[in-house]
Amino acid sequence: MIALGIESTAHTFGVGIITGKGEVLANSRNSYTTKKGGINPTEAKEHHIRIADSVIDDALKQADISLNDIDLISFSQGPGLPPCLIVGMNKAKDLSKKINKPLVGVNHCICHLEIGKLMTKAKDPVLLYVSGANTQIIAYEGKKYRIFGETLDNGVGNFLDSFARHLGLGFPGGPKIYELSLKSHDYIELPYSVKGMDVSVSGILTNLKQKFDSGKYSKENLAYSCQETVFAMLVEVAERAMAHCQKKELLLGGGVACNKRLQEMAKIMCKERNAKFYCPGNPVLTDNGLMIAWQGILQRKKATKKLDTIDIKPNWRTDDVSVDWK
Ligand code: AMP
Ligand code: MG
Repeated sequence: MIALGIESTAHTFGVGIITGKGEVLANSRNSYTTKKGGINPTEAKEHHIRIADSVIDDALKQADISLNDIDLISFSQGPGLPPCLIVGMNKAKDLSKKINKPLVGVNHCICHLEIGKLMTKAKDPVLLYVSGANTQIIAYEGKKYRIFGETLDNGVGNFLDSFARHLGLGFPGGPKIYELSLKSHDYIELPYSVKGMDVSVSGILTNLKQKFDSGKYSKENLAYSCQETVFAMLVEVAERAMAHCQKKELLLGGGVACNKRLQEMAKIMCKERNAKFYCPGNPVLTDNGLMIAWQGILQRKKATKKLDTIDIKPNWRTDDVSVDWK
């Protein structure tokens, strides 16, 4: 069996192709970026419409197969930005009709966890999922992927992007903050905001902006301190979830997990509690079509040709999905 998956929840339009055995055939993408300013959903949608066919063609070329070799189509049904989700769904429905193969919608957050497991061979990890819009600590318990902690306001990626925007840097800002952080080792005290198992970043963002506007602090010192503070918060709640669930594996997912300093801090925590640390490569950490294709394989029994029964789910929660593929 060969599945083709389409990702389009936010800034990335991605297409992945994978076999039923988990052999990667293709992982192609094209992401919307800006020189200045954050993600504009309408512009992102237009970007996706413009490049969708070329990304699909590129994935088929990478896989060295034709559309008719595909047995199953899957797409990111949610959570995400509605204008972007609709582009992916419509493309997926078009393909499904064209080749007369069934379609299945999958939950984006769960895809990060399942592709991480496939790539790293982690068995039953706690996932620290840190992306643009989402920041969640997810683990399997009682037949569901449950959220043990999450952000109470913004995703950490969006937080980094907003701070970068304030510094006059473009989108995505996370990598730019990282580059700045490497030039400093001077820690500036910032609010540290962990509430039980959850984190909150909006107060830290306000504080960072005020500090920058005061002219008393350098960009580099603020970028360094911002990372040290927020990543410590993430690692703290991930550790608490591991202790609570008695799990011995940590898996990273989401675009912010590309950050070497976050990886380092999470690795140290795992070492100290004798747990295993897993982090897949950047192509599957950031949003990608491959994880959507793989989740399609896992949930192939749900695939249908009754396309009008399928719609987007912009606010779909991780713990609303019944996990029947394990
Ligand atoms: P995703 O939504 O999972 O594709 O992740 C996108 C987010 O990851 C954006 O907010 C980026 O700023 C952020 N990001 C990407 N690379 C890095 C990095 N090296 N450090 C921190 N954040 C990053
Ligand atoms: Mg994501």
